[in-house]
Amino acid sequence: MPRIPDEVIAEVKQATDIVDLISERVELKKQGHRLVGLCPFHSENSPSFSVSPEKGMYHCFGCGAGGNVFTFVMETEGLSFPETIERLATRANIAIEGGVAGDEQLTQDQLVRKQMRDAHRVVAELYYEVLMKTEAGEVGLTYLRDRGLTETTITQYKIGYAPDQRRFTVDSLERRGFDLEVMVEAGLISKSRAGEYFDRFEGRVVFPIADRDGTIVGFSGRAIDDRKPKYVNTSDTPLFNKSELLFGFPQARAAMRKQKRVFLVEGNVDVLQVAQAGTSEVVASLGTAFSAGHARALSRMVDEVVICYDGDDAGQAATLKVVRLLEAYPLDVQVLPLPEKTDPDDYIRTNGAEQWQRFVDAERLSVLDFMNRTLRRGKNMNREGERIRFIESMLEEISKTDNSIRRDLYIKKLADEFELPAATLASRMPRTAKETSRREPMPEPEPVRKRATKSNESRWMKAEKLLLRAMLSGPERVRYVRDRLGLSYQDEVHRMLATALYEVVSEDMTLEEFEQVVPPFMERHCNERPEYANRYAEVRLMAAPDELGEEVLDEYIKVINSYEEQRQIERAKREIAHDAESIVDQASKLQELINRSRRLRER
Ligand SMILES: [Zn+2]
Repeated sequence: MPRIPDEVIAEVKQATDIVDLISERVELKKQGHRLVGLCPFHSENSPSFSVSPEKGMYHCFGCGAGGNVFTFVMETEGLSFPETIERLATRANIAIEGGVAGDEQLTQDQLVRKQMRDAHRVVAELYYEVLMKTEAGEVGLTYLRDRGLTETTITQYKIGYAPDQRRFTVDSLERRGFDLEVMVEAGLISKSRAGEYFDRFEGRVVFPIADRDGTIVGFSGRAIDDRKPKYVNTSDTPLFNKSELLFGFPQARAAMRKQKRVFLVEGNVDVLQVAQAGTSEVVASLGTAFSAGHARALSRMVDEVVICYDGDDAGQAATLKVVRLLEAYPLDVQVLPLPEKTDPDDYIRTNGAEQWQRFVDAERLSVLDFMNRTLRRGKNMNREGERIRFIESMLEEISKTDNSIRRDLYIKKLADEFELPAATLASRMPRTAKETSRREPMPEPEPVRKRATKSNESRWMKAEKLLLRAMLSGPERVRYVRDRLGLSYQDEVHRMLATALYEVVSEDMTLEEFEQVVPPFMERHCNERPEYANRYAEVRLMAAPDELGEEVLDEYIKVINSYEEQRQIERAKREIAHDAESIVDQASKLQELINRSRRLRER
């Protein structure tokens, strides 16, 4: 199998922050030098999953999962090692010359997904080239330029144009050797009842949709003439899950982390426009499908969400739905109220980027102020009846908030505004919705595997781990253990790890050299083998034994050796039963044994 050069692996690893990567998938809290959270690999209620930014590793004390950034992606995404390198390289904007090979190791399912990803990359590149460099794409480029979008923005989001031809994409993919059936399944092309393949996005401006790490997994095509439908989007495919994806996420990631804030808009063009106006932390859900999963993903990245949906009734209603989903998380949720019949794209095109920034700074509303404003519309507050109706509709909205602290806060503010006792308002709040099952169920992390806990771990297992832990602290201990235990480890993974350690530690290696050479060597060694990586991370993240004297090491070695002796006796006993191939055979062997022992006695 063609190897990926070590420098590339090292560069990708260097460029990938383990805390950033994992915290996009797991909620982590700081605890000393480590971060802890609920393990994504098994179901649990109290956190036993920990990440060490210092060592660049993670480990779960509950199920034994562990490793580095590569293992994490391999195990959570079900990717092979080369695919993982490719994904993390994409994420870090590192180009790998000639791509990543290594198809030989992939399962059928992985092969299909890889083909789909490769095809998306090829097609995105084609559509982009058509838009920027060909006559066929001019109509698309004109459309985007007329909306004030610059080439830099177009390139950053890799916007393209699908030529108005029936088989442009079909032929391009076929020429490159892609399986057209797989391409239909990936949503890149369509197939008629007569079995004829044809293009899906023809004559449309095409927005590539990428996953969190920047791998393109689908497209949204927008008609720019009066053809119907106006939008053609990828529907759910093995790569594409609408309720997890957000348009613009990889482009927004750095700014989201820095600003701890994200703007949520409705349309793809809104994303481009807002980003171009200087607010790069902006994403859009696909269609209007903002989900609990999206809310959770954003809550891991930012502290503040600003919703700027269209200024019409549908946009306002959608805003309230999104607010409900976001309120379940400890986020500062705000609403940017756009003038009626205006979306961010319109606003920026009419008023310019500077005015947009001023608008953002001055006009953001808290959720309560937004409700207040929306419900007040068309009511005459000087009339008592209308005022009461208004307060009641506010209470009804507030009752839909799941978070009880937020609910109390809202009631208090409303009480202050109308100079009414908060208790009175609270008692008037409709009870129907509260604490019932109306809440959209939170998606549970799917446990990738289940493992027994290690509480009943045997003595020899523990001893082997402690020996490895001790050996990882310096070269003399490696040499000491090597000379006394050799490779007599009972556990195969321990034996392999020890072999690697013996191999890398020379007779004259110093502690300083050890600290420079051994950790990267061991990690490289474990990269492609999750079972090694898991154990290595576990051992490396174990608290170091206080006492590492030779007597302690001898004690561990003794435990392992005496287990080995016991095992040999057991094995001899079993072999008698095992070697005999049939019952007749067994009987005759047994007879022979009896005869032999009788002869022994007669002597
Ligand atoms: Zn676990």
